[in-house]
Amino acid sequence: MHTDVPLLAVMAALFLAALVTPPAARADDLAGLAAKTARFAPTDLTGDLASLSAGDRNALAKLVEAAKLMDRIYLRQMWSGAEEMLAKLRADGTPLGKARLRYFQINMGPFSRLDHGESFVPGAPPKPPEGANYYPPGMTKDEFNRWAGSLTPEGRADATGFFHVIRRDAKGGLTAVPFAQEYRELLEPAAALLREAAGLTDNPSLKRYLTLRADAFLSNDYYASDVAWMELDSPLDVTIGPYEVYMDELFNYKAAFEAYVTVRNEAETRKLAVFSSRLQDVENNLPIDPAYRNPQLGASAPIRVVDEVFTGGEARAGVQTAAFNLPNDERVVSEKGSKRVMLKNVQEAKFDKVLRPIAAVALHPSQRGRIAFEPFFTHILAHELMHGLGPHAITVAGRQTTVRQEMKELSSAFEEAKADISGLWMLQHLIDAGEVPRETEEPMYITFLAGVFRSVRFGINEAHGRGMALQFNYLEDRGAFVYDEPSGTYRVDVATIKPAVRDLTAAIMTIQAKGDYEAAREMLATRAVIRPRMQQVLDRLGAIPVDIAPRFPQGGE
Ligand code: ZN
Repeated sequence: MHTDVPLLAVMAALFLAALVTPPAARADDLAGLAAKTARFAPTDLTGDLASLSAGDRNALAKLVEAAKLMDRIYLRQMWSGAEEMLAKLRADGTPLGKARLRYFQINMGPFSRLDHGESFVPGAPPKPPEGANYYPPGMTKDEFNRWAGSLTPEGRADATGFFHVIRRDAKGGLTAVPFAQEYRELLEPAAALLREAAGLTDNPSLKRYLTLRADAFLSNDYYASDVAWMELDSPLDVTIGPYEVYMDELFNYKAAFEAYVTVRNEAETRKLAVFSSRLQDVENNLPIDPAYRNPQLGASAPIRVVDEVFTGGEARAGVQTAAFNLPNDERVVSEKGSKRVMLKNVQEAKFDKVLRPIAAVALHPSQRGRIAFEPFFTHILAHELMHGLGPHAITVAGRQTTVRQEMKELSSAFEEAKADISGLWMLQHLIDAGEVPRETEEPMYITFLAGVFRSVRFGINEAHGRGMALQFNYLEDRGAFVYDEPSGTYRVDVATIKPAVRDLTAAIMTIQAKGDYEAAREMLATRAVIRPRMQQVLDRLGAIPVDIAPRFPQGGE
């Protein structure tokens, strides 16, 4: 799973598509395209290459080339005409052609993700095909399901799996074609580049991952290389291949190709290791009835902090991923667990280009200067970790069930609110235990307040925005967020917010533990709303960028 911050949980790009108000300007004129493009602040992203060996620096150049091939596979996966359209735009020297090319590159395609996926290049379909280019045109869900139901278990596994596209056979029926065959023309050179990189690096775990991933590109069997990725322990950290299924809006079966070429940030990775080691202690101290705590948490996922040096494929498209948790293959996850990767330079860029300007508008002048990156970063991690803590499997009236099942359509918004607020509670707990510096306490709450506006700005129809609105109104009602009439801004009352955060964590987790749908519905109905004062602040955020458009100078851009 990929994550935008604080729109955690990865559907960020999809949610945004439905929620951000499009600018009034049109896409078929220069001014309209400029307005759309301006929502992405251009940003150079770099990593510390000095920390790499000479071999790794040479390997890096090969991986950049392999990542560019992921762009091409991704375009083919998205829409059958995408590659050809890109070539035409590249050859178009007019100002309109150049503007379209720029926006095409930001979106990795002719569909504007912040505007419900509307196309902005003549000749493209009005919206992306629902099943992308993974299925033949005209195929219905019913036709697919009937066909898949008629297959052997192995055939069905391919048809509904990550790594096969569905095509028409000579008789007009459906057939599953392995990625290795469908994209051979691009996967063969990609595999060759990975092997070259494997020959250049001096890190055995990277050598192994790259070699096995090259094999997978040609064999279509990704299992061994996913396991090798879990074991990857290298200053040059790479994630390349088919991963996320969001683009397959028809079934969420098929994985899109992408690449993250990154450099590990050793100091930050070490610093965050303390969090994994404290999870059981955090669970044991949750502010809920001890009967609801989990006395035996499972093995924790490794956490890596990295800086992006180059990306390719889906990783480049639209709103930038701030963190991811992979692999998605449940067989690997059940045997080896999953790994969390925090993309630090991406998060820094979002903080500087989006959160700081929001703080300058929304926060009281006395607190604007107190927002800080460190607590922003650690809260993102705390949010992710807290998803794994608290009630999940529960018993309601003697019946074994899960929070998700009992909360039904409310479960996502409620769970996101839980992860945010209990993430704050967790960090306060670690501050009080001396594990996190005391001086981050006040900036943490102030930075969180700025982050509320960033999330709610995308709308409260989406789980994260809705959960944030709930927290905001609860904390305002408790006097922890204070509105200042003359300046039209908000500030944090630090003494008041601590008990309020604990109480809201307790309230949400207790509702989850009891599977109390009615109580969750009541809390969301009264608090997950945008009140007029908050709306006034949101209205003043109009010109601030929504996200970043990265450029990678170390990858030759
Ligand atoms: Zn989340």
